[in-house]
Order: sequence, then structure tokens, then C-alpha cells
Amino acid sequence: MLKPKTIILLFLIVSHAIFSNEDVWGKVGHQVIGEIATQNLSLNAMYQVKKILDGQSLSLVSTWADEMRFNPEFSKYNSWHYVNMPLDKEYHEINKNPKGDVVQAINKCIEVLKEENSSKELKSFHLKYLVHLIGDIHQPLHTGRFEDRGGNDIRLNFLGNASNLHRVWDTQIIEYFTIDYKSLANDLINKQKTQVSLNPIDWSYESHQEVKKIYSQILAKENISRDYIEKNFSLIKNQLHKGGLTLAAVLNDIFKK
Ligand SMILES: [Zn+2]
Repeated sequence: MLKPKTIILLFLIVSHAIFSNEDVWGKVGHQVIGEIATQNLSLNAMYQVKKILDGQSLSLVSTWADEMRFNPEFSKYNSWHYVNMPLDKEYHEINKNPKGDVVQAINKCIEVLKEENSSKELKSFHLKYLVHLIGDIHQPLHTGRFEDRGGNDIRLNFLGNASNLHRVWDTQIIEYFTIDYKSLANDLINKQKTQVSLNPIDWSYESHQEVKKIYSQILAKENISRDYIEKNFSLIKNQLHKGGLTLAAVLNDIFKK
């Protein structure tokens, strides 16, 4: 029998692990992208995705890669979630992380999924990562600077509560307006569709253009105002919409036969 003290301690450890994940598009953002992609899949892509995921939806699996970050066996994939770029350099100009980055990881996932001889297990693993990482690369701070860990080390206040720039953009602005991913996804699905690139380097470039503006508009220890939240939600919505359309385009291309 565990002593009450031990139970409280265990609860604190577990809840810390759950709530202190610094480096994630909050759940809602990933789920929105999964839902928009699902609504834009070709019939064949839809069929193949269902088969590989045993019927699970893209939005359901979209957060799996972040949940796995607390599993030490998955720590080798931590660098897959982002790419740090100095503000005056683009992807082709930086020294590549030998452990991998979000661009390399997405290319790897696409390669495994295109390879007919990949096992179902391998395809499932890489499809779950692909869904997640296309979300991550569309969150501008995931292409942020190395020295502040993509804004994680820029401490500020969000409506009076201690936070950091990365978390504001991952989660807090979205959750200020919505906690229900389906309604946000449905709003965005009605938006005008845009042509998307199939090249992850282009997505990193677009996010990087945005992150430069985000850095220039923020001061450390600043209090994020309602005005800031309202102004920036439209950029987030654009990125989520583009992320969803991009994921669909990539999957339609992988499963085009
Ligand atoms: Zn992530």
C-alpha cells in the first residue's frame, strides 16, 4: 500500500511531466491540422492512412509524438520537432544538427511511407511523426533561435500569469479563443484554399519569416496583452490552415497510385 505522502509525490511528478511540456503546438493546434488534412485527402490516401493507423484519425494521432517525448526511449527523436535558425540565415545556410531536425525528419518520414517494402509498423511510426511534425514546422517558434530555445527561454506574462514566448504561440493564444479543435477546424475548412509547396525547406522558410517578426515585436518580461493575442490569432489560423492543406497534399502525393 502506498503512503498518502508517496501518492501526492507521485501525482506531482506525473502532473509535472504532463503540464510542463514546453515545446509543443498545444494539442488543439495539432488536432486542427489533422482534421483539416482529413477533409482534404484523396480517396486512396484516406484508405491507406486508415489502414496504416488501424482506423485511428489523423487528429487523434497528431499529438502522439509529443506524448512520447517523456519516454526515454524516444529522447533520440527530440531534435526532430524543430530547427533552430539564426534570424539572418535560412535553412540551406545553417550547420545541420547531426541528430536531425524537423526538415530532415519530415523527409525521412516521407521516404519511409513511399517505400513499398516498409513494414506496417515502420509506416505507422513515421506517419504519426509526419502528422505531428508538419504541425510543428508551421509553428513559427519551431524555427526560432538556438540561444533562447525557440522562445522557451523568453519569459513573459500571459494575462498576468508567468509564461514564455514559445508557450504563448504553441498553446495560449489558441486556447484563449477555443478549446474545441473541431469548431476551429470547421471554421478554417471554409477558408479560401491556397496552393502549398511539397518541400519542407519552403515551410521552414515561411515560418522563419514569421518568427523574425514575432521576435522583433516582443520584449522579455513583457505582459502579453489582449491586443497582442487578438492581432496574432489570424497568423496562427493561417498557419494551421496551411499546415492542414500541406499535410493533405503530402499524403495525397505519397499515396497517389
Ligand atoms: Zn512537437
